[in-house]
Amino acid sequence: MCGIVGYKGKRKACNILLECIKTLEYRGYDSVGIATLANDQFQIKKDIGKIDEVHNKLNFLTLQGNLGVAHTRWSTHGGVTQINAHPHLSQDKKVAVVHNGIVENYQELKHELEKHGIKFISQTDTEIFPQYISYSMKQGKSFKDAVHETLLRVEGSYAIVAVNVSGEMIVARNGSPLVLGIGKDEIFAASDVPAFLEHTNKVVYLDDEEYAVLDLGNVVDSSKNYEVYNVKTNKKIKKEIKTITWTLEQAKKGNYPHFMLKEITEQKETIKKAIEQDHELIAKVTDAIKNAHGVFFVGCGTSYHACVSASYIFAHVAKRHVNVVLASEFRNHENFLKKETLVVAVSQSGETADLLDAVKTAKAHGCKTIAIVNVMGSTLTRLCDTSVMMNSGPEICVLSTKSYTSQLALLLLFAYSSAGRLEDGKKIINSACKHVDKVIDVGLEKLKPLAEKLHKQHDFFLIGRDLAYPSALEGALKIKEVSYIHAEGFAGAELKHGTIALIEKGVPCIALITKSTRKLILSNAMEVKARNGYIIGVSDENNEVFDYFIQVPAAGDADPILMIIPLQILAYYLALAKGLDVDKPRNLAKSVVVR
Ligand code: GLU
Repeated sequence: MCGIVGYKGKRKACNILLECIKTLEYRGYDSVGIATLANDQFQIKKDIGKIDEVHNKLNFLTLQGNLGVAHTRWSTHGGVTQINAHPHLSQDKKVAVVHNGIVENYQELKHELEKHGIKFISQTDTEIFPQYISYSMKQGKSFKDAVHETLLRVEGSYAIVAVNVSGEMIVARNGSPLVLGIGKDEIFAASDVPAFLEHTNKVVYLDDEEYAVLDLGNVVDSSKNYEVYNVKTNKKIKKEIKTITWTLEQAKKGNYPHFMLKEITEQKETIKKAIEQDHELIAKVTDAIKNAHGVFFVGCGTSYHACVSASYIFAHVAKRHVNVVLASEFRNHENFLKKETLVVAVSQSGETADLLDAVKTAKAHGCKTIAIVNVMGSTLTRLCDTSVMMNSGPEICVLSTKSYTSQLALLLLFAYSSAGRLEDGKKIINSACKHVDKVIDVGLEKLKPLAEKLHKQHDFFLIGRDLAYPSALEGALKIKEVSYIHAEGFAGAELKHGTIALIEKGVPCIALITKSTRKLILSNAMEVKARNGYIIGVSDENNEVFDYFIQVPAAGDADPILMIIPLQILAYYLALAKGLDVDKPRNLAKSVVVR
C-alpha cells in the first residue's frame, strides 16, 4: 500500500504535492519522493524515511514547475533504498511514474525489455511502467497509446500517475484506489480524497480497469480536462463528477476511531492484495517446498496460528506433512535440521526476536529459509534467502488483524501451488474475498450489542475442529489481548477432557463450524449447552443449539479467512464496552523484541 498524487495546474506543484502526500502518509512511510516538470525536464527528489525527515534533508520546496507527481512508499518489491523510492523514470528520463500496487509479471516484462537493451536501475516492479511506456513511444506510439499498451501487458494491481516531458499526464487504476479531484484551473489525482480536499470537493472515482487522460490542455475549465477510457475496450466512458460533503477534519480522523477498526476494515482490500505475487516468486517458493526434505513453519502468536492453519491445508490439499513450531521452541528441533530442510518464517513485522533466533538456528544448520512478512527491509527479510511480502500496508494497532488473513491467504496459495493447483487456490481465495465486505459490515452492525451483553464475563471458550481449530486459537488470542477477558481455544473434542468443568450457567462458548465439521462440533456444543453454557455459533447455517448466531458464508479451504473476522470485531467491541485502550493494550508491544 502506497500513497500517490498527481497535480497539474497553474500553481507551484511542489508545495501542493508535499501537502497532499502528507495526508496519505498513513498508507506507507518507508520512503518518499516528488518529481516535477520544469523546462522540459524532470526535477526529482526522493529518499528513504518519513516525509518530514526526507523534506528536512532534501527540501522538496525548491522543485520548480506546475506539474508533478508524489509518492509515499510501503515497499513490496525491492528493498527500502533511495533507488527503489518512487517516482521512477524511464532510461531516457522522458517518462516518470508513481505506482501503488504490484506488477505480478514484472520479471517477464523486464527480461523482454532487457533484450531490447533497456537497463533497469531499481529492484522494483514499478520501474516496468516508465520503461515500457518509453519503449513503446520509441516504437512510434503516442503517450496515450504507449500507456494503454503497457496497461494491457501488465498483470496485477496498480494505481499509477504517469507523466512525460511534454507535460502529458495519464492515470490508471486496477485494484488499487485512485480518485480525480477537479479544481478550478487545476486537476489532481490521488489514492484518497483527503489528499486534495482542501482544494476541491469535486471528484471523479475511477473504477478498476480504467485510465484517464488529464492532459487536454484546457486548464481554464478543468471539468473538461479529463477523459476516461476502459483499458480492455479502449472506449471512452462517461463519468459523473461527485461532490464530497464531508470536511477535511472528518476525513483525517476517518470514520475510524481506532486503528484496530480501520485495519479490520482494510481486509476488504488486503486479502486480495496478499495473493497478487510475482509469478516467478510463486514458482520459486513452490519448488523450494516441493524439493525440501522436511518443511518447518515457524511463527509466534498470531503468525503461529496462521502456520497451524496452513498445516491442515497442506495435509489435505498438498498431502504434505509440514512441521509447525513456535519460534521460541524451534531450537529444540535442531537435531532434525539439515541442508535440505526448508524453514518458512512467518511474521508481520519481521523483527520478532524469537523468530529471528529461530531463523539464525536454521541458517546455522544450512537450511533454506523463506520469510512471509509484511515489512520490507526488516531484519527477517535480510536474513532469509527469499521473502514473500504480505502487502497488507502498515499495521499500526498492536493486535494483528489484517496481517493474519493475509498470512492465511498466502499459505493457502502455497499449499495449492505445491499441489500443482495454483489457479484453484486463487479461485478459492477470490471467491471468499467476495464475502469479506458483507462479513465486516454485518459484524460491525450486529456484534456491538452482543459484546455489551458479554463484556462482564470472566471466560470465553472457543471450539473448532480441523481448519476451524486454529481459528479458535486465534479468536481466543484476540479476545484476551484486547479485552483482557480470559479466553481459550480448543479442538472441539478436547473441552470434555477437563476444561468442561469450568462451564457453568451463561459462560460463553463460541463454536466455529465448517461444513465438514458440522456434525461433530455441534455435538460438542450440545455438551456445553447441557451445562447451561451460552452458545455462539459462527457458521454458514443456523442451528437450534445456538443462543446467538453469527452467519459466515462457507468458503471451503478459505473458511478460516472469513471466520476470524467476526471474532476480531467481537474482541474489538468487548474492549470498547470495557472502556479499554484498543490500539495499545497493556503489557503488549507491536514487535516483541525481547526473548
Ligand atoms: N510495488 C511497488 C513498490 O514496492 C509499490 C508498492 C505498493 O503499492 O504497496 O515500490
